[in-house]
Amino acid sequence: MNTDYVYPYGQGGEWLKCALHTHSTVSDGTLSPTNLLRSYAESGFDVVAITDHWRLTEVPSTESLITLPSAELGFDLKYPAYPTQSGEFLVYGISDLPEDPGGNRANWQFNEEENWEARTFPDITTAMKWADSQGAVSYIAHPYWNELSIDDLLESQGFAGIEVFNGSAEVECGRGDSSTWWDVLLRNGRRPFGIGTDDQHYPLFELGLAWTMVNVRERTQAAVLDALRTGAAYFSHGPEIHEIVRDGDAVEIACSPARSVILHMEREYGVSVSVGRGGRRNGRILETSPDGLITRVRIEPNHPESIYRRVSVIDSAGHRAWSNPI
Ligand SMILES: [Zn+2]
Repeated sequence: MNTDYVYPYGQGGEWLKCALHTHSTVSDGTLSPTNLLRSYAESGFDVVAITDHWRLTEVPSTESLITLPSAELGFDLKYPAYPTQSGEFLVYGISDLPEDPGGNRANWQFNEEENWEARTFPDITTAMKWADSQGAVSYIAHPYWNELSIDDLLESQGFAGIEVFNGSAEVECGRGDSSTWWDVLLRNGRRPFGIGTDDQHYPLFELGLAWTMVNVRERTQAAVLDALRTGAAYFSHGPEIHEIVRDGDAVEIACSPARSVILHMEREYGVSVSVGRGGRRNGRILETSPDGLITRVRIEPNHPESIYRRVSVIDSAGHRAWSNPI
């Protein structure tokens, strides 16, 4: 058996289920920080980042739940899609917030009724430099929902990745899946990682709509931050990705029962294997569940030279899991 594992598979670490974008009553969420943590713990999460808008909601980790000191902050856009538009990012592992981040005050907002505040850094790179000075890890939030210009991202440095799937944006207005932004960055030789979140403000609508799984050697805040920094993760709103292994140019994937597994690449080079109706089959199914769905598959690309590769797994309900670039 081939054991050329794709990182972080085959490392023997433990997988932790993370909620990386949530709001409490400290900004515009409806759960108090304590109740928010309890709700995620009861829903099977191991890690929670309370990312209140321009507020650092610090709640200590407990035996069963690791918390990350986090926030959702903003930046001015060089290429805004409409007037007074700013972008947002999620930052993990901070110790304080800047009083004046230096951005355009025309983009700052304070909404007393909904209890949220937005300030801005002058641009993404400046924001990332500030995050770096805190030893923190940053992901650009919901690019599709913000209609973030791809040029703003391509001209910026310092973010570990982007929030590729945002459950709240998906159910609220159908703008949850920013895979296109991810693929354009990857196609341009960048290597951002991805996360999936529920962006929970209202637990009954959003809690647990999507999550990120990180692989860690130990259950500590530092290990989770390191996994986010190095991309030791996959994210999902349903399926699990158990293993990814390279065999020459082919890729083998083990997963929870799936109807389709896709190997994404630049241009139209991506290939897939499906059960039932699906695209042209490039590879073969190695193992199935009792009801005939894919649990292990070998995918054989037609284009050996690719700028990037990533995997997604789609289950029979249409729910998806995304690997980081492999
Ligand atoms: Zn948010």
